[in-house]
Amino acid sequence: MTGSAAPEGDAATVRNERPLEKPRVGVSACLLGDEVRYDAGHKHDRYLSDVLADHFDFVRVCPEVEVGMGIPREAVRLVREADGDDGIRMRGVNSGTDHTDAMHRFARRRVAALGRLGLCGYILKKGSPSCGMERVRTYTTRGMPAPAASGLFAAELRRALPDLPLEEEKRLLDATLRESFIERVFAYSRVTGFFDGRWTVGSLVDFHSREKMLVSAHAPAAEKELGRLVASAKGRPRAEVAGEYRRIFLAALARPAPRRRHVNVLQHMLGHFRDVLDAPTRQALQATVEEYRQGLVPLVVPVTLLRHYVDLRSIAYLQRQTYLEPHPRELLLRNHV
Ligand code: SF4
Repeated sequence: MTGSAAPEGDAATVRNERPLEKPRVGVSACLLGDEVRYDAGHKHDRYLSDVLADHFDFVRVCPEVEVGMGIPREAVRLVREADGDDGIRMRGVNSGTDHTDAMHRFARRRVAALGRLGLCGYILKKGSPSCGMERVRTYTTRGMPAPAASGLFAAELRRALPDLPLEEEKRLLDATLRESFIERVFAYSRVTGFFDGRWTVGSLVDFHSREKMLVSAHAPAAEKELGRLVASAKGRPRAEVAGEYRRIFLAALARPAPRRRHVNVLQHMLGHFRDVLDAPTRQALQATVEEYRQGLVPLVVPVTLLRHYVDLRSIAYLQRQTYLEPHPRELLLRNHV
């Protein structure tokens, strides 16, 4: 190593000093073990209660209980009685009792209240006529299978809070979807917290500079668009700048970050080591990025190595990048992608 640039020493970094707040996340109550299902059972998901509960401030909701359907209750299903999703009714499986209007009214009220609570994400029960995010079974009036839809409560969540990261518990079993959802929840929390605070154009420049590489891994064009927005923010109405930044930022993170884009970001980071690490060390880092590119090691390997040298050489610009730690390390999310 050349040791020619920033001083070595204390590993405490700007990045590590930044607190990771516990974002508030909505969840279908049965997934946390609440016995609220139609048969008085639950669908306890241990990953949520034993792992994510340490990092998320969960807000549990059972739409069917809260709307007054009781426990136990008759099971319901979605019936297509007219064209389009507006023609979907929620009916008791045996009695045909129509719960649609009550559920719509409840969902509008409850989702508005959840929006005011500052939710940063929502985990929904797969397949539920109320909570299912997508591909919920529907039936014709004769009881035959019809095209799938969203549950009524989930549809209202999507309509009223279109930027809110939503996921289903079963999809969280997939390492890529899990990492992406949790990254988006923390990003939502950061961007919302930033614009809810007393921000200035100067602090927006700083915020964007921290998020740059993370956004680039998802959507390089969006990162440039955000850069232009920040550069032209002075003198523009604040609400307009905030709304535009938030929308582009969240839409960018909602796109998957493919391996090749991670490789681009990692190589860009390597460029910052040109004058602070010797050639053999840089080549070793480059080799690790190449192993990641080939799928031989997971993302955590090059990121951990880079983070080590970033801290060791105190490269301030990189230390501040949320890309190096977009969610709590203990969740081990980058060990499997
Ligand atoms: S899926 Fe939704 S409505 Fe059904 S029991 Fe769970 S929380 Fe309640």
